[in-house]
Amino acid sequence: MNIIEIRDLTIQFPLRNGTITAANHVDFDIPEGKITGLVGESGSGKSTMASAILRVVTSPGKITSGSIIYNGYDAKDNVKKDILKFNNAELQRFRWKEVAMVFQAAQNALNPVVRIDEQIIETVQEHVDMSREEILKKASDLLDYVRLEPERILKSYPHELSGGMKQRVMIAFSLLLDPKFLILDEPTTALDVITQDYIFDILTKIHKERGITMLLQTHDIAVVAKVADRIGVMYAGEVVEVGDIYEVFEDP
Ligand code: ADP
Ligand code: ADP
Repeated sequence: MNIIEIRDLTIQFPLRNGTITAANHVDFDIPEGKITGLVGESGSGKSTMASAILRVVTSPGKITSGSIIYNGYDAKDNVKKDILKFNNAELQRFRWKEVAMVFQAAQNALNPVVRIDEQIIETVQEHVDMSREEILKKASDLLDYVRLEPERILKSYPHELSGGMKQRVMIAFSLLLDPKFLILDEPTTALDVITQDYIFDILTKIHKERGITMLLQTHDIAVVAKVADRIGVMYAGEVVEVGDIYEVFEDP
């Protein structure tokens, strides 16, 4: 089954002298329980397509055609399936809880002047009704899970942590509300090779042990070759090839 089915998705950025079509009538499926890699050079449209899934396309981008069907809800939930038609209440229920994203340079998403524990509590309480104690307990378990020392991390300010540590904090953070699907946008691009491998170990563990579906966007083919079950290749706003690693990288 596909957890996400993107059909005919077009996203344009109006500019002063024309338009950029960042996604051009894209069809793309994301199978449940697998790691799908999305590769393509910088500017090919990977981030824009993924941001549409969470409905966080950056301004002034506009979705001008298409649908994104989400199959993660049970039939008995009786909710709309097309993410592009979700209203605010539906989006609120969808973001973090169904689908979470670790943004590119996610570490920069941390507020430099607020302690990690306070940031986590504040963000979670914006979305769900959980007590401070519950949130801290869950955050500690997840930090431990991504091989960080919970006591130390929770009491730190972001500048006291390395890039790799911050990235792991963001991965733990993305898992706080038990999403079924995790979008990772260049999760290791800013990090050294050793730290990259370490983070991919952790992501593979999360995938195996929790069965979370993942979409991994990167320009680094070596990275997806290591972890992805299936690969889509984007070029100039179009998904030009989809298949397993051997199909996609075999000589024509
Ligand atoms: P990738 O993630 O593959 O690097 P992006 O989705 O970031 O690609 O970009 C796709 C295209 O959309 C590029 O041509 C980029 O310049 C354009 N684009 C992305 N965001 C904006 C924006 N906020 N304003 C104008 N153009 C944008
Ligand atoms: P804001 O500053 O209003 O939170 P953002 O652009 O950061 O706006 O996020 C837009 C929406 O996407 C918010 O409702 C936010 O909760 C949600 N969001 C932000 N980060 C994530 C994430 N990592 N996973 C899922 N949803 C997210």
